[in-house]
Amino acid sequence: MDKSFVSIPEARLETRFKDAKPLYSETEALTEANRCLFCYDAPCITACPTSIDIPGFIRKITTGNIRGAAQTIFRSNLLGVSTSRVCPVEELCAGACVLTERPINIGRLQRYATETALEWEENNNQKLFNAKPSNDHKVALIGAGPASLSCAAYLALNGIQPVIFEKDTIPGGLNITGIAPYKTQSTDIKNEIDWLCQFGIEIRTGVQVGRDIMTDQLLADFDAIFLGLGLGKDKRLAIPGEDSEGVWGATHLIRMIKIEKQFTLPEDLKSVIVIGGGNTAIDIARELAMLGVPNVDILYRRTILEMPGYKHEFENARRYGVRMIEYEIPDNITNDGKLILHTKHKITGEQSRFESDWIVVAIGQDRHVNELIPGLKVDGKDQVVVDPGTQLTSVPNVYAGGDCINGGKEVVNAVADGRNAAHSILQSLGLEIN
Ligand code: SF4
Repeated sequence: MDKSFVSIPEARLETRFKDAKPLYSETEALTEANRCLFCYDAPCITACPTSIDIPGFIRKITTGNIRGAAQTIFRSNLLGVSTSRVCPVEELCAGACVLTERPINIGRLQRYATETALEWEENNNQKLFNAKPSNDHKVALIGAGPASLSCAAYLALNGIQPVIFEKDTIPGGLNITGIAPYKTQSTDIKNEIDWLCQFGIEIRTGVQVGRDIMTDQLLADFDAIFLGLGLGKDKRLAIPGEDSEGVWGATHLIRMIKIEKQFTLPEDLKSVIVIGGGNTAIDIARELAMLGVPNVDILYRRTILEMPGYKHEFENARRYGVRMIEYEIPDNITNDGKLILHTKHKITGEQSRFESDWIVVAIGQDRHVNELIPGLKVDGKDQVVVDPGTQLTSVPNVYAGGDCINGGKEVVNAVADGRNAAHSILQSLGLEIN
């Protein structure tokens, strides 16, 4: 593994955030676990993209079998530590819980089981899982986000040598640079990556496929390729004035907060307008409000009810003072000492101007899969087309998963894709699956 990536700076802005849902104590975990009804036809399992046996692992917690609980989780989801913190459980497993008044806190129980078990592993120098001996097969994975890490970890456990090629200097993808710091911090993700790498994953950072190494070379040298490319740079509004100082792309700004050494907000930063209606817009708005920016507004072209971002996340952001401007469409940006965002009302066409110190554009990210592999089929949104049963693309021996096939879903969807692709690769090589 290229160790150059381990240098996450200590002096970074994200360390000012507190853990929104801290690790349960043993008593808290037991109390919560004992509320579970251990439903026979558990809807929480169906709602989990990785189909974790949720009542199964919760029952193990109630009997004190924490390592067994963690193994149950990891068998379905090897990124069980990070997904316990970043999954929108309100929309997934806990949202499907039959205890509708007060659903089981599945995410926090998952965090308790996985983190406690990994701490035990470290203190006792014993492994929860041991990789099978090498079988001389090799798989190349492009991009080191959660989809590739999940795929690589399952392959490594089954004796295949996975080699991940990552163009960034740091692996982890948006899991390390883009998750709101009150959910998880970059150092936590780095620890998870270290744990996965001990199964035998090699990560080569700073290597761009298509520039430093070609895919036909990879196809010749490896048994298969997995594309876990994620998404590209922040999309632009394409309006005049967008290049003005103080206009940020949302994921770029979140990355600065999370991993950029000594990045700070200007002391005179008093107002920010965030343009967009998705979860990234809500996250960066809440982060800026939590960092002390007094006026943070989300400006969206439709209404709150039509925002694609999760309602519970928006309500949380509101608690920190984030406000909403509805029905405004950005038209241009000028600068007369302060940034002025000129807009048109979607319904009336009336023009407005909003003064702000910073403007953050959170309208999605570009796709960048074109021309990487000749013959690779993409859909009308530039998303890689795969067989949903196998994750196989239109090119033989090339699999794909995560944001590059779905346009940007949850980390847990990427993890599921990676695991499913690993199973397909193992099957195609005639290997037994652990
Ligand atoms: Fe437990 Fe709720 Fe899942 Fe039923 S639906 S098994 S109560 S977590």
